[in-house]
Amino acid sequence: MADTALMSIPGPIDPVPVAREITPRSDGRLDLLGLTHTQIAELFDNAGLDARQAKLRAKQVFHWLYHRGVTEFEAMTDIAKTMRPWLAERFAIGRPEVVEAQLSSDGTRKWLLRTADGHDFEMVFIPDADRGTLCVSSQVGCTLNCRFCHTGTMRLVRNLTPGEIVGQVMLARDALGEWPKGNASPRAGGDPRQPRACSPEVPAFAGTHEDDDDSEYTADGRLLTNIVMMGMGEPLYNFDNVRDALKIVMDGDGLALSKRRITLSTSGVVPMMARCGEEIGTNLAVSLHAVNKEVRDEIVPLNRKYGLEELLEACAAYPGASNARRITFEYVMLKDKNDSDEDARELVRLLKRYKLPAKVNLIPFNPWPGAPYECSAPERVRRFSEIVFEAGISAPVRTPRGRDIDAACGQLKTSAEKKSRAELDRLAAEKQAALG
Ligand code: SAH
Ligand code: SF4
Repeated sequence: MADTALMSIPGPIDPVPVAREITPRSDGRLDLLGLTHTQIAELFDNAGLDARQAKLRAKQVFHWLYHRGVTEFEAMTDIAKTMRPWLAERFAIGRPEVVEAQLSSDGTRKWLLRTADGHDFEMVFIPDADRGTLCVSSQVGCTLNCRFCHTGTMRLVRNLTPGEIVGQVMLARDALGEWPKGNASPRAGGDPRQPRACSPEVPAFAGTHEDDDDSEYTADGRLLTNIVMMGMGEPLYNFDNVRDALKIVMDGDGLALSKRRITLSTSGVVPMMARCGEEIGTNLAVSLHAVNKEVRDEIVPLNRKYGLEELLEACAAYPGASNARRITFEYVMLKDKNDSDEDARELVRLLKRYKLPAKVNLIPFNPWPGAPYECSAPERVRRFSEIVFEAGISAPVRTPRGRDIDAACGQLKTSAEKKSRAELDRLAAEKQAALG
């Protein structure tokens, strides 16, 4: 797998094929994290169980793994005692490795994670008064190169596997101590090497909600209520793995999070949008950021491949979008680039012309070393928001979160080295050429 990471910057859909066959870990066991019912049953079948047994055990293990957060077969109390060591010899339930966990002064948490083959990526948890949102990564780096995004300056790109994607949500539940109660033994008896709340790998944070106050957040008292695919990477360039991971997240017997609480953000990979609606069915967010070809070509270079009209048509056709489930249009506020009154009016006109059930999310630009833009002044952002709002479209300003730990939108990048302008330009040209 290390080789895939060194491949040249790839082209369009599914740019870096990640081995989808299930490869054993260094201890010879197969990791079940990220696998579906059917895949687990197949492995049990191959290991020697008869088909009926394999199916039954797979169902039980799936439930313990994803619904209860168990990492040890010994804790799976409805599986025969003699069967548990047989499973443990052959299989394991892993988590992405936690390299570092940081807590922002505003309560936002960022984790630096590492894949088994040594690539770093990040996830962020953003607690709010009425919800807690986990921002999940889909790739290490990004093949695209939006000019305002720090992740886009990463050269190394590899798709995350379903296990690495669903593993982020599992880790967050570990760290927040949020697996369903009533199964104290699995948590208490979990693999001590696995990161859990208060384990050395996931430092306990000051001011966390360890003793869940049920009056907060959702009815079941959980902190993690929402997921946004807005971390590193372009999720629609890693479609199969993102879909497979989110299916487990949405499965009632899996992590059981409603599709209405999950939002997938794309920079505009038009050919994959219909499939996204049909096969995943989550809420959609589109990184629009500009209202004319010239500016969008510059700041979201994918626009040169899939232009604004095509993108907005794909939005209008997005399965499942309605006034009750609006598409979010993300719009980063860049000083003197896309933030005029005229831009705001054009945005309204476009959204109306395509009859889009839309809400606009204005994102103050989050700076990073060497970034070629500045954030619009607060007064400009306010005025832009007013114009859109007065036209009857909701246009809240997203409050930047976790800026002090570089966890805010577009600040994710795993190595902190500063690239020169010439290097950044060269990288942008390389990525653009690879897009074709
Ligand atoms: N690749 C996907 C999802 C990840 S980016 C996409 O582009 O939609 C999540 C959001 O953060 C996107 O809307 C992205 O445009 C925005 N973003 C990127 N860099 C930013 C920055 N420096 N400041 C503010 N928002 C940024
Ligand atoms: Fe990639 Fe999204 Fe960043 Fe663009 S904004 S470079 S698509 S992660």
